[in-house]
Amino acid sequence: MNKKALVTAIVCTLMVLAAYFAWQFVFFEYETNVYTTTAEQLFTIDHLTKLVPLLIIGLLTAIGIVACIAVRNYLMRRDTFRGPFAAWRGTPSTKGHVHGRRVSAFMVVRWVCMVGFFALMVFGGVLLGQRYSWISIPVLSCPANMSQLTEASCYYLAHLEELAGLPLMGIVAFVASTLGFVLVFGRVLCGFVCPMGLAQDVMHKIRQATKVEGIAMTERMYQALVPIRWVMLLLMIGLSFVGGNFCNFCPAIALTPVAAGLSVSLYASGFLMVFVLIASFFKRRLFCTICPLGYLMGLAYRIQPFRIKKDCTACTECGACYEACPMGIKQLYTEREKADVTDISCIMCGECVRCCPEDRALSLTLLGRDIYVSKRLRVVQGYGR
Ligand code: SF4
Ligand code: SF4
Ligand code: SF4
Repeated sequence: MNKKALVTAIVCTLMVLAAYFAWQFVFFEYETNVYTTTAEQLFTIDHLTKLVPLLIIGLLTAIGIVACIAVRNYLMRRDTFRGPFAAWRGTPSTKGHVHGRRVSAFMVVRWVCMVGFFALMVFGGVLLGQRYSWISIPVLSCPANMSQLTEASCYYLAHLEELAGLPLMGIVAFVASTLGFVLVFGRVLCGFVCPMGLAQDVMHKIRQATKVEGIAMTERMYQALVPIRWVMLLLMIGLSFVGGNFCNFCPAIALTPVAAGLSVSLYASGFLMVFVLIASFFKRRLFCTICPLGYLMGLAYRIQPFRIKKDCTACTECGACYEACPMGIKQLYTEREKADVTDISCIMCGECVRCCPEDRALSLTLLGRDIYVSKRLRVVQGYGR
């Protein structure tokens, strides 16, 4: 067995063990749910005190980020580390000087969607009623929060045996809505709806605003994450069949339920949320590259109506699209013939289109119609700001 396979096997084994025993590691002991938020309570002191776990997570994240920066600066000052560490240094886009910073309508719509859906996933049920609760959307928005507008598919995917025990109409509603969203939207939901995606994008924005250098992932680093993603997928689907519970270490339980004021016990998920936030600060959407639900959503990417298209004759092979892509999709700029460069990992965030400096070289399309195209002027004006 070579060294790489050995390291992968050890990491995967540790992940499986940690996942199985996650319920043992209490991050923040909170009472089990005795709190139901009402619309009147939302902005009261009583409700704000329920957000203490979020504050703790935020504080630990800030401490972790400062510690990482200090360690990196220390290592960078030592010549012996400069070589190996250089690969971790940020490229221009990871330093906050992003190509084409000019705000586009597409990006505004994306952020409005993410923030709006976050509010709906936290308080939608309280504000608008529970009439949409039969709809299951495949995003990581923990359904432990009964106040959210819709169900999230992740719970039943992680507890298939419970799904089988539902009444027939419940099973039909779950399968129809989950499959419908996967087939029609796929990972557009990752780019526009998922609260975990929003949390990671907010961390990325904070890093850009503070001008801290990020980490530029190499292709080898992305490859190293592939087995971890497979293990996560296996754990999500299979852990409940052997007496475990994926939710005990899913970081999403430390987001929407806690933001809703729900009194959940944060076992390993609280720790992991801190790591996810620190990681996404330095590398945008790092968790999304190993997220099992995101991978499942991408499976139907060949038939989904949202596509990334490339005009290879207009492309000058500058690589700006690859550098901007949070999912590390290389075929964006290596493709020389095919017009369709949609990838299973694509979250339709539009960053590649925004940063491409050639007119119409890249476009995001819906049913063949352009909804966002690359423009030289946008990039040039971005540099001028
Ligand atoms: S890949 Fe990211 S955005 Fe998509 S479901 Fe997973 S955490 Fe959410
Ligand atoms: S290919 Fe483009 S739209 Fe897809 S994830 Fe990468 S940057 Fe976002
Ligand atoms: S950013 Fe545009 S021009 Fe540059 S490699 Fe990508 S598609 Fe080609």
